[in-house]
Amino acid sequence: MKRSLLASLLLCAFALLCAPMVRADGETAPSRDPKQPVDEAYTAKIKKYTTQPTFTSPLVEYLPASKSVPTPEAVLGDIAGAPGILPYAEDVYKYMRLLEQASPRVKVFTIGTTEEGREMIAVAVSSEENLKKLDENRASLAKLADPRTIQMNDAEADKLVAQAVPVYYITGTIHSPETGAPTALMELAYRLAVDESPYIREIRDGMVTLITPVVEVDGRDRMVDLYKWHLSHPKEFFPPLIYWGKYVAHDNNRDAMGVTLKLTENVLNTYVGWKAQVLHDLHESVPYLYDNTVGDGPYNAWIDPILADEWQMIGARNVADLTKFGMPGVFTHGDFDTWSPGYLMFIAAMHNGISRLYETFGNGGADTEERTLDPQEYSRTWYRQNPPLPKALWSQRDNNNYEQTGLLTSLHYFNENKQLFLKNFYLKAKRSIEKPQAEGPVAYVLPADEPRSTLQLELLQVMAKQKVEISRSTAAFTVALPVKKEKKADKKATEKKDADKDKKPEPTTKEFPAGSYIIRMDQPYSRIADALLDYQFWSPEDPQKTPYDDTGWTFGELFGVQVTRVTDPKVLNVAMERVSEVKPAGGVKGEGPIFAVNNNAEPALAALRYKLRDASIEAAEEAFESNGTKFHRGTFLVKGVSRGDLDRATAGLGLHGVALAGAPSVKTHAVKAARIAYVHTWLSTQTEGWWRLAFDSIGVPYDYMSTQTLAKIDDLNAKYDVIVFPPVGFSASTTMMINGLPSEWGNPLPWKNTLETPNLVGKNDSTDDMRPGLGWEGVAKLQKFVHNGGLLLTATDTSQFALSIGLGEGVSAARSDKMKIVGAVLGARTVDESSPIAYGYSEKVSVYCDNGPVFSLASLAGARGRRRLGEETHTRPTGRGTADDPDFVVGRPGVEVPEDAKSEIWEAPPVTDEQKRNGFRVIPPANRPRVIFRYADAKELLISGLAEGGGDIAQHPAVVDAPVGKGHVVLFSINPVYRGETRGTYAMVLNAILNFDSLNAGRKDPEK
Ligand SMILES: [Zn+2]
Repeated sequence: MKRSLLASLLLCAFALLCAPMVRADGETAPSRDPKQPVDEAYTAKIKKYTTQPTFTSPLVEYLPASKSVPTPEAVLGDIAGAPGILPYAEDVYKYMRLLEQASPRVKVFTIGTTEEGREMIAVAVSSEENLKKLDENRASLAKLADPRTIQMNDAEADKLVAQAVPVYYITGTIHSPETGAPTALMELAYRLAVDESPYIREIRDGMVTLITPVVEVDGRDRMVDLYKWHLSHPKEFFPPLIYWGKYVAHDNNRDAMGVTLKLTENVLNTYVGWKAQVLHDLHESVPYLYDNTVGDGPYNAWIDPILADEWQMIGARNVADLTKFGMPGVFTHGDFDTWSPGYLMFIAAMHNGISRLYETFGNGGADTEERTLDPQEYSRTWYRQNPPLPKALWSQRDNNNYEQTGLLTSLHYFNENKQLFLKNFYLKAKRSIEKPQAEGPVAYVLPADEPRSTLQLELLQVMAKQKVEISRSTAAFTVALPVKKEKKADKKATEKKDADKDKKPEPTTKEFPAGSYIIRMDQPYSRIADALLDYQFWSPEDPQKTPYDDTGWTFGELFGVQVTRVTDPKVLNVAMERVSEVKPAGGVKGEGPIFAVNNNAEPALAALRYKLRDASIEAAEEAFESNGTKFHRGTFLVKGVSRGDLDRATAGLGLHGVALAGAPSVKTHAVKAARIAYVHTWLSTQTEGWWRLAFDSIGVPYDYMSTQTLAKIDDLNAKYDVIVFPPVGFSASTTMMINGLPSEWGNPLPWKNTLETPNLVGKNDSTDDMRPGLGWEGVAKLQKFVHNGGLLLTATDTSQFALSIGLGEGVSAARSDKMKIVGAVLGARTVDESSPIAYGYSEKVSVYCDNGPVFSLASLAGARGRRRLGEETHTRPTGRGTADDPDFVVGRPGVEVPEDAKSEIWEAPPVTDEQKRNGFRVIPPANRPRVIFRYADAKELLISGLAEGGGDIAQHPAVVDAPVGKGHVVLFSINPVYRGETRGTYAMVLNAILNFDSLNAGRKDPEK
């Protein structure tokens, strides 16, 4: 601290002699304006709270004084980064608005609200002149963002580039336990508004810095509550932040594909609305500053290579600048790969901008603490020549120094090269528009006759949220499809081809009816549409062995709707109109005593059941035809509701009701609006949060309760028909679900509203002590609930839990060491189409899988089902004859070997005669588990992503319905409800719920 303050004073004195302050290398020196007074008291505190002289820089080791503009102290009562101080979002906003009042260089904008109704803001800081002509400037940037508006004219673009002011968008605290950004950004806004040093002035005059200081506002307020609780109970353990936003925690930074959370939508609208060039998201989990945009491969395949170069340029320069300041631990290469486009920053990457992300070092609060690093964190590597210290006292101020120094040097470098970056911004947009002639495809088409029209609509709505232009054909059209090349290894096919050499391959075409949706690729935001709708392949041989996130996400597959990738340029000439709004269009046709709503496995059907609570709805157990229309199994037969009410309900949901002359002559059963208990643990609420979000957005009501609450309900069957226990995630074991967090020692961990924690509960759950789990009493109640006729629905780890507590006799679950299915899209097959769980599904279904578990079935109680390891092999034992001959025994006539009872991998092996001898362990046929869906064969297993060693799960059951007493447990190996992306498999869950008391419909028991 001494050294650098003295050094900067000397530098300033020197600079005065040879003004302007330009260094020999031609760049503006990062030093203060000696004519501008320093806020001495504030500066002294900066020095005091910075724990080592190298943990700061000439850019942030002082604070310029202002007579009219308040410093962050006005709201915080101390300086930014002071120990013990974490402001609520409201206080951060209050300060930003004080700045706005005091300085013409600051403007605050509301950008929307959160799920819990809290405001989100964006703060623009720039010169007074720039802020006055924001709209005019936005119009220039909009032309660069959409080169069609200037006829793709590069010379015209150059004119705009020469005069436009770029927008650099910074977002803070999306991850609530990463607490430092708000104070860093408060002080940054002050510096940008007040500092007269040439270095800062250039940034202010040259560009607009746009700041959202708190992205996860709901989670921020909870985190500040917890920190306050910790301050007033300094000797106690404090509760972990179990809820961040209303629905999800850390995954709020994985929503940039589906755009299901408000925070994603608000930031996306702001980024695109401002025509910003950069989206720079702040995180705190790596010492001391990891600019992870360079990261590691594989890079997302759909980004423009220009962007990859920009990551390198800005990242390398960032490291260089901070290294010159003597700050340790700054690097840009690391283990983060940029494959998945789900991160918030990727909004920029997929909309022709520059995505950036910092990991700085936070203490998860504002305590100053001694921090000890792992060897891999402090080792000196080729990309980290000046690594972090193995052990250091670390403060929130240190973190704020790094965040601000990194940002200021980035802003300055960006401004110095703004014409280059603005031109790149234009070029990336232009190249997006040129996609059809360049790499392709030309368009994606979603047919007008899609049976799952409501899911098609939802997919189009995601596209619309992503600002993708959607068109609709006004006439039928035909496109040529590319001929798939034959694989060389396919010898038979080659031989066959040789045989009919003269035959040319038949040209394949596809016809689409009028009204089909066309997503043209000659538009500025073609990249995001392509990235979401295309297929992904992650090679098992990829040098990157630890994918950072999901490896596959193909939206058409996961939504269960048809999407055709078209490479035929003729599609662009099809008669079409732009669609301004994607709205549901349903309703009732005809007049009659009974209405049929076809079942195509759409979640909207469940919405209809709960909307029309008083109506009588039956499900057809067989398919039928009426007036030429084919109705599938599970079709809703609706009575006892007026035509008008049904018309309104179906119209809003996009469903179609058809009047029938009379009830069809097929077996039916009642579809009831099941009473649902929805259970979460106090271990983690993230993975279940996505299920909650899905239930809420569909309109399926439930009682939300923890395992603790469930355990206290005496007669679960009296209150509920269905208990939904979604995945817990984060390697939660059965033991942890039952025992909870350690409670043999330590203090209670309350999650409830108190004077210190007024925001904690929000619209979620509360408890006096987070530690207890379900407990053994709870286990007993759950078992009783199922035995008495209830339905327990579980997935992945909660399926393992259900099996561990003895529910689901005949099903076993295993993990495979060899298998690596990292968040991938897999093929599945319907095994039992007559089960209500399969209603509306066709034979092939795409599912999301993250390494299983691998289910196997057995017909003996307590037995583990056989597992298939690797690929199938057929060999006979060593002996006489050819491979398919029988062996012999010398000196004995041959005997007939009893036929081996054959069964499929997903089935339980048939009971053998030996097992039937005193066979008290043989599960009676009516009690055996029923496989509804299974994973596809190994060859057809992978649809998108990485599936290494997939043979271990291929053909194994994916969804099983196990009868238990009078009830059922339905077990999922897949996660059917995930990140708003897997909407095609939601109906598996909803079908089970709506048919909870008729799950045995269509069941065919084995004979023995
Ligand atoms: Zn983070």
